[in-house]
Amino acid sequence: MDPTTVSVVTVRSVGAEAIALELRTPSDFDARPGQFVKLSTEIDGESVSRFYTISSPRVTDTFETTLTIDPSGTFGPYLANLESGDSIRVAGPFGNAYYEEEQRTLILAGGPGVGPAVGIAGRTLDDGGTTTIVYRDEQPIHEDRLSALSQRGAQVFVGTESDSLTAAIEETETENAQVFVYGFSEFLDWATEALSAAGVAVEPAKMENFGPAPEE
Ligand SMILES: Cc1cc2nc3c(=O)[nH]c(=O)nc-3n(C[C@H](O)[C@H](O)[C@H](O)COP(=O)(O)OP(=O)(O)OC[C@H]3O[C@@H](n4cnc5c(N)ncnc54)[C@H](O)[C@@H]3O)c2cc1C
Repeated sequence: MDPTTVSVVTVRSVGAEAIALELRTPSDFDARPGQFVKLSTEIDGESVSRFYTISSPRVTDTFETTLTIDPSGTFGPYLANLESGDSIRVAGPFGNAYYEEEQRTLILAGGPGVGPAVGIAGRTLDDGGTTTIVYRDEQPIHEDRLSALSQRGAQVFVGTESDSLTAAIEETETENAQVFVYGFSEFLDWATEALSAAGVAVEPAKMENFGPAPEE
């Protein structure tokens, strides 16, 4: 799709310093949860663009991305201040690490990686499959969505760095599961080690790297 200007439908808090940004879907846009878009605008006369991953199970009329906001960042605070009816430029979708009707999904998510996790888990359940989310965060977000998924039969493990989420992976039925990993690079390193420790092949996993972790 050519870059297009779309309307902001809602900006919703989904936890501490975290928002779900719902945008109107352009007419020629189709995407899967796990793919990402490029959002662009001008801030103080400078053109700024960042990538954000789709967190809604579908993109039919609107689609959603989930962001954690670093108050010292450039684009995150700008997006958090948007209101319904504002506009933003969108290009995409991009990326190879997305849901493709796999019947069994295991999604490892760090920080804002929980966005694609809830999108993929919701779509897997809609399609009659089974799904597990292993989510590592100091300040977990999207608690409503995680709880709703759990009630629909998803296995959901949420923990901080010190918790043994490796044990959660070991407890999960991984045979025939497609593994997805989303988060900043430090989380991808952790997930790679945790998968190896649990005896799960890393090479077939679909991984998306959000870049170097924001500084504390
Ligand atoms: C493929 C891909 C997918 C992604 N998907 C998501 C997603 O779904 N959700 C999500 O939240 N993010 C996602 N990201 C990350 C996102 O694109 C941005 O990098 C992130 O939102 C930070 O952008 P920013 O402009 O707010 O921060 P930037 O201005 O780019 O700064 C990055 C960090 O540098 C530090 N910094 C910047 N300016 C200052 C300053 N003046 N003083 C001190 N420190 C400073 C801050 O720690 C800040 O977080 C993705 C990235 C990629 C590559």
